[in-house]
Amino acid sequence: MERLRNTDIKFLRGMGPKRAELLEKNLGIKTYYDLLYHFPSHYVDRTTIRRIADFECDDMPSVQVRGKFVTFSVQGEGAKTRLVGLFSDGSGVMEVVWFQRIKFLREHYHTGTEYVVFGKPSRFNGRWSMVHPEVDPPGAPGAQEGFRGVYPLTEQLRNRGFSSRTFSTAVSTILGGVSYLSETLPPHILARHNLMGIREALSNIHSPVSTSQLERARLRLKFEELFYLQLDIQRYARRRTCSTQGFFFPRIGRFFNTFYNDFLPFPLTGAQKRVVREVRADMATGRQMNRLLQGDVGSGKTLVALLTMLIALDNGTQACLMAPTEILATQHFETISGLVAPMGVNVRLLTGSTRKKAREEIHSQLMDGSLHILIGTHAVIEDNVRFRNLGFVVIDEQHRFGVAQRARLWTKNTIPPHVLVMTATPIPRTLAMTVYGDLDVSIIDELPPGRKPVQTLLRYDEDRFATYQGIGRQLRQGRQVYIVYPLIKENEKLDLRSLEEGYETICDTFRDYRVAYLHGKMRPDEKDFQMQLFASHQADILVSTTVIEVGVNVPNATTMVIENSERFGLSQLHQLRGRVGRGEGQSYCILMTKRKIAKDTRRRLELMTATTDGFEIAEADMQMRGPGDIEGTMQSGIPFDLRIASLATDGQIVQLAKDTACEVLDADPSLEAPENSLLVRQLALLSSRLRDWSRIS
Ligand code: ADP
Ligand code: MG
Repeated sequence: MERLRNTDIKFLRGMGPKRAELLEKNLGIKTYYDLLYHFPSHYVDRTTIRRIADFECDDMPSVQVRGKFVTFSVQGEGAKTRLVGLFSDGSGVMEVVWFQRIKFLREHYHTGTEYVVFGKPSRFNGRWSMVHPEVDPPGAPGAQEGFRGVYPLTEQLRNRGFSSRTFSTAVSTILGGVSYLSETLPPHILARHNLMGIREALSNIHSPVSTSQLERARLRLKFEELFYLQLDIQRYARRRTCSTQGFFFPRIGRFFNTFYNDFLPFPLTGAQKRVVREVRADMATGRQMNRLLQGDVGSGKTLVALLTMLIALDNGTQACLMAPTEILATQHFETISGLVAPMGVNVRLLTGSTRKKAREEIHSQLMDGSLHILIGTHAVIEDNVRFRNLGFVVIDEQHRFGVAQRARLWTKNTIPPHVLVMTATPIPRTLAMTVYGDLDVSIIDELPPGRKPVQTLLRYDEDRFATYQGIGRQLRQGRQVYIVYPLIKENEKLDLRSLEEGYETICDTFRDYRVAYLHGKMRPDEKDFQMQLFASHQADILVSTTVIEVGVNVPNATTMVIENSERFGLSQLHQLRGRVGRGEGQSYCILMTKRKIAKDTRRRLELMTATTDGFEIAEADMQMRGPGDIEGTMQSGIPFDLRIASLATDGQIVQLAKDTACEVLDADPSLEAPENSLLVRQLALLSSRLRDWSRIS
């Protein structure tokens, strides 16, 4: 493979420097290797011949027909000059049109000779036509030969005479001509999973001899791609786990036990208990814990955070909880200090707006060890915040923090604290395995008892009256309502509802009720003030932008209206909806939308009305948008430009690849065995593509 990567395509027969340059410019293809790994985007069936008389519908796929040219004529002038051949297959006629190489083609093709013409028919001026099709004598290689790859091409390449044929010819020239195409997976792995050899796989991925061989080729190439990715991740994870010493927390003591026995506000759910056990087990190994806690909105992660922080206190260290916004930090502070202050735990809040005097007090309490739990925003990772002995860090809503920020927590100690990252963005399993491949993952997959699933309705803008009536009913029952807007101010270019406009309408419509408002451009203290109005039920309605997205907890709020919901992604809608349904009452989420929306958008909104399962929604979101766009993965550094495998659709292969990588490393942790030398070489070659994984510390 090394040689394939070093051989320039300009040396390929029939290529030459000019065309090679075009390929590089348009598709980044420079070497034999690049060309071999530029796979078809799909395949066409060239086993059947279609009849022109049977052509139908506007958007036909590429087809082949067999017949003869009746006449040729050159039409048009200047740039529009074209060669038009009238082609008949006995059932009907179509025009075959070329805009390039007219003189050559006019001499090359003949009337009265039989050809197989392959291309995409379109309807033009009441007649079928094909532009720049492939034309071959029947029986020529290429015609009627089964399945053919269709390659992604650019307009420029097409105009310069490149076609799918160019690629398949080039590929077979390489495959037929080079002897140094060596196997890229060791025999023990190929045999174990009954995988196709590399040469056969490459040949079949480009020009499959049958659908079943194509499937085997695909499997082999996808597996290989995912396997090396997983091998790299797992090797990295193991190295780190072995080399990083952590705090040893063997004890469960006074803090945990007192709280658990006397102050626990409700019995833990089974899932909460399990996660606490998992964290406890990690902290008693002597290695640093790096654990991701995934739990849908409202699943009760805060209580898990608190319980596990108490274990850290029981072992003589301090704990810190970091939240992405001031509002959230404040809410955590209130919840947690409310629960444990009575039993003598010293909890303090540190945010950007903490006054100087309080700040100094916090600093000195942190240093003398009298401060047990620090809760805050980014403020807690500033340089002047030093702990006497920080043993445990909880990061809430992980995706808001960059890797670099998280890494700064390291520097607070000589021994790195245990880290628990909590996220309410459910991440599809395959993605978690990859993005968080080096983390341990805990999942809370059970909501506290008595929750009624939120009822979600889709409603058009013109039916707004019904929405207002619904809001009115809830308000009369003493419930609270969120209304979310996509914009703060009206914007001439965007036909969207804005918060400013909405605020006025809502105040007008619900005169007897108090309305708070919240948006990202407000000063933090203003935001807090407005949020506090709503949280303490001094306001009945909160109009806001998406700033309330994460973590806010007001159990009495039972209705969430989302304006222009067509503008939001699935995960975001799910996050927003999670603000309601946190108390006893039946909750509602009303998705307002324009009547005219794209098909995909409608599918998205309908899925929201059909399920409240965060994992299902995350999965669907990934299918629709691709893994690279899923929240929380952007900063991960994972190369989502996988060539052939997809984290969205190849879940089973991801699992197989991971299991295989783990088995290999279990048997040979440093890959020293001779049968694994190939793995080391391949990893070295690939590592330029694999970057730094998502690390939380
Ligand atoms: P999230 O996982 O979204 O952060 P929270 O920790 O804010 O969820 O919890 C959501 C709500 O559920 C809170 O009002 C909390 O008091 C409540 N809760 C948490 N655990 C339980 C439980 N075991 N039983 C009943 N209610 C619970
Ligand atoms: Mg939370």
